[in-house]
Amino acid sequence: MGTNKQTPVPTGEVDPANPSTALLAFNTEDSSSATSDDSTAAAAAASRASSSSFREKPAKTIIFISLLLVTCIALSAAMAFAFLFFSSSSVSSAAAPAPALARPLVKLRRPVVLLVSSDGFRFGYQFKTDTPNIRRLIANGTEAEEGLISVFPTLTFPNHYSIVTGLYPAYHGIINNYFVDPHTGDQFNMGSHEPKWWLGEPLWETVVNHGFRASTFFWPGSEVNKGSWTCPEEFCKFYNGSVPFEERVDTVLSYFDLPADEMPVFLTLYFEDPDHQGHKVGPDDPEITEAVARVDRMIGRLIKGLEKRGVFDDVNIIMVGDHGMVGTCDKKLIFLDDLKPWVQVPKDWVQSYTPLLAIRPPLGVSPSDVIEKMNEGLRSGKVANGKYLKVYLKEDLPSRLHYVASDRIAPIIGLIAEGFKVEQTKSNRKECGGAHGYDNSVFSMRTIFIGHGPNFAQGRKVPSFENIQIYNVITSILKIQGAANNGSDSFPQTILLSGN
Ligand SMILES: [Zn+2]
Repeated sequence: MGTNKQTPVPTGEVDPANPSTALLAFNTEDSSSATSDDSTAAAAAASRASSSSFREKPAKTIIFISLLLVTCIALSAAMAFAFLFFSSSSVSSAAAPAPALARPLVKLRRPVVLLVSSDGFRFGYQFKTDTPNIRRLIANGTEAEEGLISVFPTLTFPNHYSIVTGLYPAYHGIINNYFVDPHTGDQFNMGSHEPKWWLGEPLWETVVNHGFRASTFFWPGSEVNKGSWTCPEEFCKFYNGSVPFEERVDTVLSYFDLPADEMPVFLTLYFEDPDHQGHKVGPDDPEITEAVARVDRMIGRLIKGLEKRGVFDDVNIIMVGDHGMVGTCDKKLIFLDDLKPWVQVPKDWVQSYTPLLAIRPPLGVSPSDVIEKMNEGLRSGKVANGKYLKVYLKEDLPSRLHYVASDRIAPIIGLIAEGFKVEQTKSNRKECGGAHGYDNSVFSMRTIFIGHGPNFAQGRKVPSFENIQIYNVITSILKIQGAANNGSDSFPQTILLSGN
């Protein structure tokens, strides 16, 4: 591109300047001698021609003046062009996340949120393989650049229910995937649908309370009757892991065929993968890569279906996971029976072993004494992997875990280092796989957050945040008043386009 042979210019710098230098060369009086390469040869010839004719007819000063005028106009045009060129390129690079209004809806009457969960989608899985559909949501939406932070314990039920209530597990009541009510002795498990377990107000209830429709194609807690939410058959599917993913997607899509006033404004969609594979083989197995590709195909199916209905750009899709995954191979085990020289912790005191150790000693046994002796043993250097477990009175846990304000939480909680497992006694069980449930400050426990749609800026990255913020984000998009929760009222404005 260089017009001057003597001083080659680095190509990166030449592009913007080139048009103006060409114009300047063309209009310079001695351009005939200065320029000789191909691109300006014609211009130089024209310049020579005009200057020779000028010498032949000296009386025609008008021509000279008009030529001078043309030169001036051409020069100012060149400068204006150069100015526009530089200023437009600097604007586009500097003003990326300028606050802007949410994009207007084209076909839908009201804002709609479709909340998609891919269980155990550890942050980073999106790079494992070609994920063109997830990439498309990221490229045209807003992403938590370093992932979404799960709540502690980083388990499926506590996290899914935090996402839809905005509450930490201590406040929404689902403090583990299974636990015991210390007052009644009743046991909670993942099939428990009695309302007494499920505290707080999940989004489907909030939405229905406001006179709108919600639909759930699986979500922990969705089968539970709460307030005005009665889990209506057509819009609330009872959990059944054998329903093919395609059927789930297609059913959700079919809700967009309903007349506008019957269409749900909040919808959930849940996939068990890649959690399912992660537990079996750990996060770094080709099986995970395949599972991620499959989830991506489901997102593709969803996008295509929404596009077919002309609503893809109207629907706010929020894609999340509930937690990450870490490999547990290499016999990283800690056995409670190894603590016998210090304290005997029998099986029936232990409500959960791993990766969240929860111990409730019987009345009459002081939790503080048990903790002191356990930690003494763990620190002694005589217990295999002892230094990778630390037990706490729940009141003494780091406050960032928010894991204290519920009687359902056992008095003694053990924090286990990433990838380690606690068991009662040595066994021959297969120990190689994947797990989650660890401290939520551990990076491998992070998952994804992607928001795509009229309320999300395109191509925007936001810092990581805890999933309890999502409830307020969704009620903000839907323009409804949410229930009190642990999320911040001001958070939604930090990741959403402003209301229109
Ligand atoms: Zn899970």
